[in-house]
Amino acid sequence: MANKVLVLGEVRDGVLRNVSFEAIAAAKQIADGAEVVGVLLGDSVTSLASELIAYGADRVVTVEHPHLKSYTSDGFSQAFLAVYEEEKPEAIVFGHTSLGKDLSPKIASKLQSGLISDVTEIEGSGEGALFIRPIYSGKAFEKVKIKDGIVFVTIRPNNIAPLEKDASRTGEVATLAVDIQNLRTIIKEVVRKASTGVDLSEAKVVVAGGRGVKSAEGFEPLQQLADVLGGAVGASRGACDADYCDYSLQIGQTGKVVTPDLYIACGISGAIQHLAGMSNSKVIVAINKDPEANIFKVADYGIVGDLFEVVPMLVEEFKALKV
Ligand code: FAD
Repeated sequence: MANKVLVLGEVRDGVLRNVSFEAIAAAKQIADGAEVVGVLLGDSVTSLASELIAYGADRVVTVEHPHLKSYTSDGFSQAFLAVYEEEKPEAIVFGHTSLGKDLSPKIASKLQSGLISDVTEIEGSGEGALFIRPIYSGKAFEKVKIKDGIVFVTIRPNNIAPLEKDASRTGEVATLAVDIQNLRTIIKEVVRKASTGVDLSEAKVVVAGGRGVKSAEGFEPLQQLADVLGGAVGASRGACDADYCDYSLQIGQTGKVVTPDLYIACGISGAIQHLAGMSNSKVIVAINKDPEANIFKVADYGIVGDLFEVVPMLVEEFKALKV
């Protein structure tokens, strides 16, 4: 059993990302009764500490600094390592997000620890915990156990269920003063691309388009379907390469990895590199004109047809169901 587990809470636009609560659930399992300490790094993040406690953290340590307003690996690693030195935990959990993927190897190398990244499931608890992670682009899974040293894991969003929120839980919130210095990068301004609001990596429903969508305008019915289902739009690299959409939407081996409850692939052939980013989705629906398309091999439901006919029909049906 770890003496205590540190969990990094991730904040975006002043809101805690859902993966933070999933990470607390993972930490609870690893802790097996030991203390779970949430960590918040930023500029005015302390007010979010109570939410981490409501989701299961026993205590929260925050570091507030103007240099932590935007993420930089230099700033966040200095702040996190200062918390680590104070707390000396035996286990650490981050989300396997862009931030977690950037920060965790840096922290692991400073601590000279191992790192089990992209964990999708934890079997057992405490010292007996086995961490399950996909390998070979999701074609196989390995189970990893840490023999000794710090148990440092990143968890894939949408795979480990958060605990039920209990707003009556209480816990100590302390702020640690850290002198953040020698930054090689100072973020002056962040200019965001316009987005529909639902974060692709955490979306419960993803409607993805491929080269079969044929143009940027062709993505409009997909956006309508995503909107009616409360989901996000994604894409294959084929669609991104053809300039139908932005690369930030790319799903796959060299794009984002998503695990939604429902993945609707429209005009996507199902190349192995695409499957690497979505084949662990809970339910997969494929819409493709070609009955031999590879995507049907991983689909739970297949619709052989023209996406420009099928997608508008689905939009109408789902709208009718909502009324
Ligand atoms: P296509 O393979 O051209 O398929 C288009 C599909 O649309 C066809 O199946 C067709 O039948 C169907 N279609 C056409 N019109 C319609 C219609 N009107 N209605 C319904 N269906 C229609 N790809 C990724 O997606 N993500 C990655 O991260 C990624 N990483 C890569 C990394 C490397 C190193 C390499 C070499 C490749 C990578 N690729 C990646 C590219 C991948 O190999 C494929 O080229 C790409 O996924 C194909 O995209 P697509 O399925 O949209 O296009």
